[in-house]
Amino acid sequence: MVEYIAFDADDTLWHHETQFSEAHAKFELLMQEYLTGSYDSQYLFDTEIRNLKHYGYGVKSFGLSMIETALELTDGRISPEHIRFLVNVTKEMLAAPVQVLPEVEAVLDELSGDYPLMVITKGDLLDQESKFVRSRLSEYFRCIEVVSEKDPFSYSRILRRHRIRPENFLMVGNSLRSDVVPVLEIGAQAVYIPRRQTWGREYVQMDEPRPRLYVELEHIGQLPEWLEARQLAA
Ligand SMILES: [Mg+2]
Repeated sequence: MVEYIAFDADDTLWHHETQFSEAHAKFELLMQEYLTGSYDSQYLFDTEIRNLKHYGYGVKSFGLSMIETALELTDGRISPEHIRFLVNVTKEMLAAPVQVLPEVEAVLDELSGDYPLMVITKGDLLDQESKFVRSRLSEYFRCIEVVSEKDPFSYSRILRRHRIRPENFLMVGNSLRSDVVPVLEIGAQAVYIPRRQTWGREYVQMDEPRPRLYVELEHIGQLPEWLEARQLAA
């Protein structure tokens, strides 16, 4: 029986990855001014992954990775003006308006009457809390939990703190790696709502789909009806 529902934030409640794609495009244009050969976007992706262990997830981490990649690709020839440009791209990303995804508000409005809701997101604390406030969705949630990594350990810790039993917990999100696999691992349930644009790192192979605890929906608007059927079956 589902008694508590948690939502992922980025690309589940609001647009996220589009912002990063746009920044990648700006970065590529800038690099083309310096490079004689063609630009390979993999460089920046690789720097991002390499830096996760130093800076964690989020926009600030991405900004530092852009600067580092630019320094490497240009052999240190990048101009101070262009470094400043990259800093400004980063600051603009941090201040950009939060665009809530279609149907999200109606679904939260409906579900928050019947269930306690929370947000579980990974990334930078200041950035995620600020987006949460700017999204104007905070009234629907009991709390927001910002973690540095979404793994079985961090989910278990959150559930223990809120005194929620795993079998009564449902996680809704767009990432198999972060929102589904670790949640199933602790014996809770998950709804996977894929988005066309999702960071490559968030894909994983589901070796052993467990339909009883995990379902894939096309969009968030289908969640209340699915949940009602699920509860009746339970
Ligand atoms: Mg997400």
